[in-house]
Amino acid sequence: MTLLEFNKTFKTEKSCRLHFKKVRDKEGVICKKCKCTYHYWLQYKEQYQCKACGFRTTLRSGTVMEDSKLPFKTWYMIMMLMSATKKGFSASEIQRQVGHKRYETIWNIVHKLRIVMGKREDLYKLHDIIEFDEGHFEVETSKRVKGNLKRGKGSQRQKQVAVMAESTPLEDVKRNKKSSHVRFFKMKVLETAKSEDINETVKESIAEKSIVLSDKATTYVDISKYVETHLTEKSGKETTVSTLKWVHIAIANAKRNFLGIYHKIKGKYLQNYLNEFVYKLNRRYFKSNLFDRLIVASV
Ligand SMILES: [Zn+2]
Repeated sequence: MTLLEFNKTFKTEKSCRLHFKKVRDKEGVICKKCKCTYHYWLQYKEQYQCKACGFRTTLRSGTVMEDSKLPFKTWYMIMMLMSATKKGFSASEIQRQVGHKRYETIWNIVHKLRIVMGKREDLYKLHDIIEFDEGHFEVETSKRVKGNLKRGKGSQRQKQVAVMAESTPLEDVKRNKKSSHVRFFKMKVLETAKSEDINETVKESIAEKSIVLSDKATTYVDISKYVETHLTEKSGKETTVSTLKWVHIAIANAKRNFLGIYHKIKGKYLQNYLNEFVYKLNRRYFKSNLFDRLIVASV
């Protein structure tokens, strides 16, 4: 969706609300009390009423907008801005664009949407042949470290991130060229760099019948228990440019993206930033639909 189309379609608060209802109707409303999925719409109240138990659900309840008093239009503008470009915007830039007084409010919404993006990604596991490696991301810790005299300034440290990519080797017989085709990615912050953490991440992210390619890190010893085959290769130049090509490209791009947009990233929010990056990366071929998809994910 272009800015021009957005302005035409979502001119008023009412048009945004009606659109949100339409998307929710289509995705389905689940009663919080009895889990029933059949509802009446009470026009005059602007609420759903459960056909089984009579429990009422507001238009926002159960969606990402629950507990928010901000107009639908502001939410829509934020979702539009977040899906408008491949690179994305910082919360302060979004705050400036939508003209809202409080930075914290906008920051909260942007992060809620990043969490939504992550949840959407967690619905799917990676399949077939998967490149697996770790990236080290610079983050700022909020803890004060001994010897750091500047008040409020956290210390820099690194967080390990498991990066995975579905990568299919291709051989162009006519041109006699070997390459690989990449589909979906995942990036997960590792709380520790221990093998238990790696195992848990592999179990959650990769389908059992997959083949995993990685280097020979000692923490990867158990990966083969969770997938069909685990192939390792000694880390070297060849690994970086060929076997684990796509994960390395993704890591480099994510780092460049974060450096360019965000002043600094706190360790505990790194996963949210990765969510947005991966969400867009995995939808790189559906550019114009990104906005519609984000609304569907948010209901
Ligand atoms: Zn009910």
